[in-house]
Amino acid sequence: MNGSIDDQAPVLAQVPGETKPGETKTTEEQMTDKTAGTGAQAFGTGDAQARAELLRRCWPGGVKFCPRCRTAAPYVLAEGRLRCGSCRYTFHDFTGRWLNLSGLTPAQWLDLARAFAQDANTREAAQAAAISYNTAFKALTVLRLAILAQGADALQLLGPQTGLPSVFAGGRLCAAPEVRPGSIPVYGILSQGGRVFVDLVPELSAESVLHFNHNFHLRVSRLGHILLTDRYRTYDALILCGDEKLPYHYLLRHQGQPFAETGSPFWLYARDRLRQFKGLSARRFPLYLKELELRFNRQGEDLLPLFLDALCAPMPVPALD
Ligand SMILES: [Zn+2]
Repeated sequence: MNGSIDDQAPVLAQVPGETKPGETKTTEEQMTDKTAGTGAQAFGTGDAQARAELLRRCWPGGVKFCPRCRTAAPYVLAEGRLRCGSCRYTFHDFTGRWLNLSGLTPAQWLDLARAFAQDANTREAAQAAAISYNTAFKALTVLRLAILAQGADALQLLGPQTGLPSVFAGGRLCAAPEVRPGSIPVYGILSQGGRVFVDLVPELSAESVLHFNHNFHLRVSRLGHILLTDRYRTYDALILCGDEKLPYHYLLRHQGQPFAETGSPFWLYARDRLRQFKGLSARRFPLYLKELELRFNRQGEDLLPLFLDALCAPMPVPALD
């Protein structure tokens, strides 16, 4: 483990020989294949234990309910399917949950999440789960979405302003379209009692930051496509990730450097990690910010139980088919 989160640009688009994002089998489909004896690999003890571990987190107390209308006690059908007695929705144990956005088996999920909890980068996590780099990259995107979705600000971050819903449109992981120029979101770093909160600042856009820099002498520093500002209102800094369309050359240099460059323990922690990414995008930026917020606030803790609970949590209802 080298402490980095990632080491290569995102590769969400299809690559030769890989399944298209829309064609990726879900975790539940993989399991159905294996229990039906049609899978490529044997259904091993490791998978059975891993599945039991995930099921325990999906259904606390063993009480099952419909992911669409929340009615309890669904009928059990063949091949592990369940049917809601109220709305007739047919589903599996993992339907509508974050982990089902990826085709990993339960054992692969556990290996990947364990490595990620120990700060593995994508390549290391892929090796730990014995999967390809691209598969691990997609699965870690799912895990980051799941982490973000557990936050108190999830509804806002999964709203239209960040564009994140397009990453899992229709209950499938998608290569997200780029953020439209003029709508790059801005986040604020807020610290309180040694903890940090990274908020979406909905009233601001990248243009606001350029305007403040020009007309109100707001100091700005740059890390690749990332812009970090001096203090703004209650925030230690504003932060955004643009792309080549953002007119960085328009920025003015003001004397001194933003407060966070020396005064924010979170930024000092996050800066070195963000530096290792070569392909950060405006769309994916909140995923990394919220992951780093969680890692910073929970340093020294075992993150695996938290990651697994996040993966097993239900996705927002519109993601159900
Ligand atoms: Zn139902």
